[in-house]
Amino acid sequence: MSLYFNLSACVRATSKFSECTKCVDACPESIQLLDNLPSFANKTGVEAAACIGVCPTEAFSLSDFSTTEFFFTFLDSKIRLISPKFNVPCISVLSVEHLISLALASEESITLDMSSYDVESILYDQIDARIDEANFVLSSFSDKRLETNSQKAQEIKEEKNIEEERTSRRSFLGNASLKGVVKHKMSFDEAVEAEELKAFQLDRATIAKIKEKHLPDKRKILFTTLKHINKPEIFEVLAEEDVSFVSQKYVDDSCTNCQICYRICPTGALSSDGKFSLINFDSMLCVKCRLCHDVCEPDAIKLQPSFEIKEFFETTQRTLAKFTIKRCNECGNNFTYTGGELSCPRCLVEEDEAIFLHTNALAMKAKLEEKDD
Ligand code: SF4
Ligand code: SF4
Ligand code: SF4
Repeated sequence: MSLYFNLSACVRATSKFSECTKCVDACPESIQLLDNLPSFANKTGVEAAACIGVCPTEAFSLSDFSTTEFFFTFLDSKIRLISPKFNVPCISVLSVEHLISLALASEESITLDMSSYDVESILYDQIDARIDEANFVLSSFSDKRLETNSQKAQEIKEEKNIEEERTSRRSFLGNASLKGVVKHKMSFDEAVEAEELKAFQLDRATIAKIKEKHLPDKRKILFTTLKHINKPEIFEVLAEEDVSFVSQKYVDDSCTNCQICYRICPTGALSSDGKFSLINFDSMLCVKCRLCHDVCEPDAIKLQPSFEIKEFFETTQRTLAKFTIKRCNECGNNFTYTGGELSCPRCLVEEDEAIFLHTNALAMKAKLEEKDD
């Protein structure tokens, strides 16, 4: 099974200002940034499956396994166990959205088989964190939960944590060792040497594709699943940091209507009208890729500190900012009017430059005349 990367779906390809490193953080031994874009060695293949479930825009996929297909075939089957031993290459290919949707769509409870994972591995922690998040979000509007068969593993992990805490206290007292770090770095260097990293480059076709707005399948699945369940009587509000895959936002007064965020948003969660006189936001289309935040120079677009579960059931499009659009007296183009002269910023800059050049020319002329005298 091989790993595929769709460069046009990666937000790093959309803008050099993107700071997304979710795939690299999920699989630091296999994925790294090369020329600011994710890159991996072909040989790493399925070991890098964690990046599939973590990428907000579904830029990664596998040659012989589709998470969307799995969602439907799993629900069609009678088995209610998700296990790397027989129906998934790795549980980490499933995102939090997949896990929530599976729990909601299945009448019987689903168990995730964690028995083949090393409880001390990063992968175990990542999958565990996704299951925890899915169960936490589920608990705010449903009594469905995902189970794991790793009760024993959890006990072992807790024992290890107590032991680690003891060790870290000892380290704090002066016994710090870089052994683990060195080992990790060595294995990474060896992997890189073993096979050259595959470099991805932007070409015309990719750039054309980037411009298309695209909602990942996992979000479409979540939408569909939510439509088929009962609305809760009370809508809870969760802390922003407890929900990794969707967000609510606001725009403050420092926004200059530079148009970048809503033009660049990969899913169309941010949008405007034909005159660019407002910023609309549809939180259920947001995949929390953070690109809009990364490109906003004045840092005007902000995450709300909470997420309202109501959005899952009564999706609303909110207007985050409104602007007065006027026609420029000089060039005739529309611009965001903030008061004063009816000239667009570009014409004002040109005017300033013209005044500067004219003043300079006069000063030089005066100097030359002084010399001649
Ligand atoms: S968008 Fe996906 S592929 Fe691109 S950097 Fe983020 S996680 Fe990696
Ligand atoms: S929120 Fe930021 S990126 Fe978006 S239009 Fe305003 S200034 Fe530009
Ligand atoms: S609104 Fe921002 S965080 Fe959400 S999908 Fe669009 S660019 Fe990404």
